[in-house]
Amino acid sequence: MLSGVSLPKRIARLADLAYNLWWTWNPDATEIYEAIDRQLWDECGHNPVKFLRRVKRKALNGALQSPQFLELYDRVLNHFDAYLRDSATWYATTHPDQAGHLIAYFSTEFGLHESFPTYAGGLGILSGDHAKEASDLGLPFVGVGFLYNQGYFSQRITEDGWQEAGYIRYSFDDVPVIPLMDADDQPIMVTVDLPGRVLHARLWKIQVGRIPLVLLDSDVPQNAPNDRDLTARVYGGDLDTRISQEIVLGIGGVRALRALGLQPAVWHMNEGHSAFSALERIRERVAQGVSFEAALAEVRPTTVFTTHTPVPAGNEEFPDYLMDRYFHNYWGQLGLDRERFMDLARHQQSWGPTFGMSILAIRVSDRRNGVSELHGQVSRRMWQFLFPDTSDERVPISAITNGVHTGTWLARRMRLLYDRYLGAGWLENLDDPETWQALLAAPDEEIRQARLHLKRKLVAYVRDRARAQWVALGRHPVQIVAGGTLLDPYKLTIGFARRFATYKRGSLVMRDIDRLLRLVTNPQYPVQIIFAGKAHPMDEPGKKIIQEVYRQLKRAEFAGRIAFLEDYDINLARYLVQGVDVWMNNPRRPLEASGTSGMKAALNGVVNFSVLDGWWQEGYNGENGWAIGDETELEDQAAQDAKDAASLYDVLENQIVPLYYQDSGATMSAGWIRKIKECVSTLAPQFSTRRMVKQYVEEMYLAGKGPGHK
Ligand SMILES: *Cc1c(COP(=O)(O)O)cnc(C)c1O
Repeated sequence: MLSGVSLPKRIARLADLAYNLWWTWNPDATEIYEAIDRQLWDECGHNPVKFLRRVKRKALNGALQSPQFLELYDRVLNHFDAYLRDSATWYATTHPDQAGHLIAYFSTEFGLHESFPTYAGGLGILSGDHAKEASDLGLPFVGVGFLYNQGYFSQRITEDGWQEAGYIRYSFDDVPVIPLMDADDQPIMVTVDLPGRVLHARLWKIQVGRIPLVLLDSDVPQNAPNDRDLTARVYGGDLDTRISQEIVLGIGGVRALRALGLQPAVWHMNEGHSAFSALERIRERVAQGVSFEAALAEVRPTTVFTTHTPVPAGNEEFPDYLMDRYFHNYWGQLGLDRERFMDLARHQQSWGPTFGMSILAIRVSDRRNGVSELHGQVSRRMWQFLFPDTSDERVPISAITNGVHTGTWLARRMRLLYDRYLGAGWLENLDDPETWQALLAAPDEEIRQARLHLKRKLVAYVRDRARAQWVALGRHPVQIVAGGTLLDPYKLTIGFARRFATYKRGSLVMRDIDRLLRLVTNPQYPVQIIFAGKAHPMDEPGKKIIQEVYRQLKRAEFAGRIAFLEDYDINLARYLVQGVDVWMNNPRRPLEASGTSGMKAALNGVVNFSVLDGWWQEGYNGENGWAIGDETELEDQAAQDAKDAASLYDVLENQIVPLYYQDSGATMSAGWIRKIKECVSTLAPQFSTRRMVKQYVEEMYLAGKGPGHK
């Protein structure tokens, strides 16, 4: 840890703080680094490890001489120590007899912070937020995932709107990971069999508050060069890469926990990518002489599966030839022949039989859930064929709607406002709707000032980025305008940021360009739109949608009021979900399993304007935002798009714009502030990971355990 760095004794514990991601959701802790050297903090991408390795002695000495700094330092460390020491957590007090009930949570991605590149998008953010909340609630919990040394790609847009992907290789010296070593101070390793070779992976730990994540890394000298890159990228490469990664995560992940002496009571597979973990647990029992059937019967009650994919094609499936190549030495160890093994996850596709990871996950688990009520229904219908004697409604897949981690996504400015009006300790009771009622009495002007502050902050950030690109990259001036330099913080601003997959219909708002033009350039009541998001590098249709949007917004007629911000990540997401006025989302229903960015927005008083899909189907109450379209789903996609686009323009023209500018001349009318209050008070408690993780504990992790449980 921080080898070669020596910190002044008085503030030496900055190193402890840097190696625990607790700081990422505690704004005072963030302030520490800003207070030492603001510019370096930004240059280091808000990475405290990188920062401490580079910070000048002079800056540290300056901090040492500042009483305010030392006061801040002591306060943050006291808070940090108290957090780690706290023995009266929600879990400890609610389930005192279940302290040893360890939950292992497997995920290909953990989106914890922008400085730690272990995520691609929504699934990763959800896992990261789940882990942080598990820490806050005091669960006995360990995450299992990968330590990618390149992570996901960084995005550049060419002058013609084409997405280009670049990869950066991170040095593990610069990220807050801790190598796991054995008693002889050797790296702890696990191995898995891949065709014709043994793959070695070493283990790292990252500390997230009270809980560890164990991360696997194949970049070790024992492996051939290709294998060293196996864990370089999130969802990189071809089918061989993917099945190999999933073998490392599933089988290697179980071996990793065993190597660390951990005995989980519950194994949670977050998406089907880690379903091989259950096979490995069965194999362990078969090796001890138990039959396959008996081993499966032991594994199922301790296995939880969360599905996230309402599109059949989105569920990972491997063709038989691949399964033969990777598993021909393995099924015998399960006590199965090829036929019975393949039957575990058999899916008959038009092009031939495949091995479905979600099917495997459903078969090896007892408790399964989708991530919103609507997604639960869709999943029950989609997987009904696995339960031939059961009607759709009775398919055993329940729903636990996603949430977001409040501390992570709440703007500091809003937190101060909530501190003032919700009463001390509100964060402890944030999932209680009562807590938020007091907000209704907060003075409008304070809410207006807080919202304006956050919008100015967003616009200033956007301009700084554009200026930096202008200087460093010599970008074409049109791209500088497209990057948001002409945005005005006093105008109604809509945010649209998400993955550019076709079903999310990123260009829907551009379907009728003339109508959009009139809206955006209305001289008295203009509208601004800010886009951001990546398309998967192999998703050509997704990249074309970005291009379509980009080509349009560059047109001078739009007067620079529509922008596309490159390289959507957690940092940019934070500015956007805190800074815009309206959060727009228009997926093709019912393909958005949940969506979480709208929850982050709502928490900050950014009002949602969305298709009634995923979480918004549950969250929308007629008053706390706006709906695009209704609950009908048309067979004909073009007709559905036309209908939704018409609704989108209607609501914008007749409701959203007039309400915002209602008191002529004022930005954010009194009616708008009422909307904000309704939005925050109804949505913040419900769509938090506080509510979500408690639900996982009661309905999935401890189901069947002790009093009060079914
Ligand atoms: C929240 C978030 C997502 C997921 O957003 P959706 O609403 O689920 O599309 C993706 N990427 C980043 C960087 C995020 O912060």
